[in-house]
Amino acid sequence: MDFALTEEHRMVQQMVREFAQREVAPVIKEYDRAQEMAPFVLPRMAELGILGICLPVRYGGQGMDYIALGLACEELEAVDTTLRVVMSVHVGLNSLGLLQWADEAQKQHFLIPQSRGEKIACFGLTESGAGSDVAAIASTARREGDEYVLNGEKMWISLATKADHVLWIGRTNPEAPDPHNGLSAFLVELNRPGVKTGDLHGKLGVRAGSTGWIAFQDVRVPIDQRIGLEGEGFKIAMSCLDNGRYTVASGATGLIRASLEASVQYAHERKTFGREIGRHQLVQQKIAHMVQFYDAARLLYLRAGWMKNQGLRNSRETSLAKWFATDASFQAASEAIQVHGAYGYSDEYDVERYLRNAKGAIIYEGTSEIHQLIQAGYALGYREDPPLRCELPAYDAETWQNEAAV
Ligand SMILES: Cc1cc2nc3c(=O)[nH]c(=O)nc-3n(C[C@H](O)[C@H](O)[C@H](O)COP(=O)(O)OP(=O)(O)OC[C@H]3O[C@@H](n4cnc5c(N)ncnc54)[C@H](O)[C@@H]3O)c2cc1C
Repeated sequence: MDFALTEEHRMVQQMVREFAQREVAPVIKEYDRAQEMAPFVLPRMAELGILGICLPVRYGGQGMDYIALGLACEELEAVDTTLRVVMSVHVGLNSLGLLQWADEAQKQHFLIPQSRGEKIACFGLTESGAGSDVAAIASTARREGDEYVLNGEKMWISLATKADHVLWIGRTNPEAPDPHNGLSAFLVELNRPGVKTGDLHGKLGVRAGSTGWIAFQDVRVPIDQRIGLEGEGFKIAMSCLDNGRYTVASGATGLIRASLEASVQYAHERKTFGREIGRHQLVQQKIAHMVQFYDAARLLYLRAGWMKNQGLRNSRETSLAKWFATDASFQAASEAIQVHGAYGYSDEYDVERYLRNAKGAIIYEGTSEIHQLIQAGYALGYREDPPLRCELPAYDAETWQNEAAV
């Protein structure tokens, strides 16, 4: 494994850092307080190519690798989690799912505008009665001739009111002996008749982001908008989560870094008992924890990104990276508040927002409890990853940067 960053990686890192630090950081508190998404965020991310960063050029993307995606997420979440959430749902959970599972016509029709940021994409898995327990999904997709008729309500959907497309999971076979095998995936435009969307309010964190619901009432979609085969919905959703969790892990690493940097700065500025607080050993201990969290989280996501580049199955490693980084980011943000004393408890400083934002990532894309079960399952030999009909393609610079269809 070679974790040295290429020239291209460093350019991406620099470009995304400049966007996040110069354009978003100065106004983020204002939007977080107003509980609104800054209107320029999605168009600017599209313009800069961030929304298609790791998609092949022939599918409208920038042709960079999966490490570039992780680096971008780290930079985005070092400023605000809501920026990284865009990458998680638009790129990780939707576009990479299409890259892996969609047929060529679907890629041409849906993936190209998503990679270019002309269409915004989200991911509809969760329902009021089905979160960790995906097999409990109650939404239905009934086949009628050349169409499916979709019904049901998805809850807690990031970008629900901002997106044009949803990758939606519903039940096509209520009789399947194993309910996991009765689910199918569909790419659905959110301007179809029968679709309603709305925002959820009063969230603890990601307040400058958009989280909502999507209700389908007799929404008709042609059969060629089914992604994969009937019954493959659960496998597709889990593949999407392998990619989404990677973005959550790398983003949480950025939040740890931001907590560390804010703490180091404040530890130099604030004096108690005649010296800067950084000289007190118990403050140093908190800084040391953040350093430890950051390096471990970074190495874990780089390993997962490297495996994706090689075309190796990485569900286990990505789950570990996500679990570790999100738990660590919550602890880092909490310790950063402690280092700031009372000032950390107010929104005058950023660290209270980091803590509120970090909590969400311990819940979505697999709660920490679910990741513990996954890790124990692998270690005990109860869990394995049989080959998939469609694997996420390995990164190949020549093919990915080639404009022509290959
Ligand atoms: C900000 C935010 C954004 C989100 N965005 C999206 C999105 O874009 N798309 C989408 O589809 N979903 C999204 N979600 C939903 C998210 O994925 C779910 O909330 C998550 O999967 C957990 O499901 P739940 O909330 O129903 O909790 P539950 O599954 O009801 O879990 C409740 C508690 O029980 C624990 N638990 C459950 N089962 C077990 C078990 N077997 N063993 C031990 N403990 C268990 C859980 O760990 C948790 O602590 C989002 C959520 C949030 C908060």
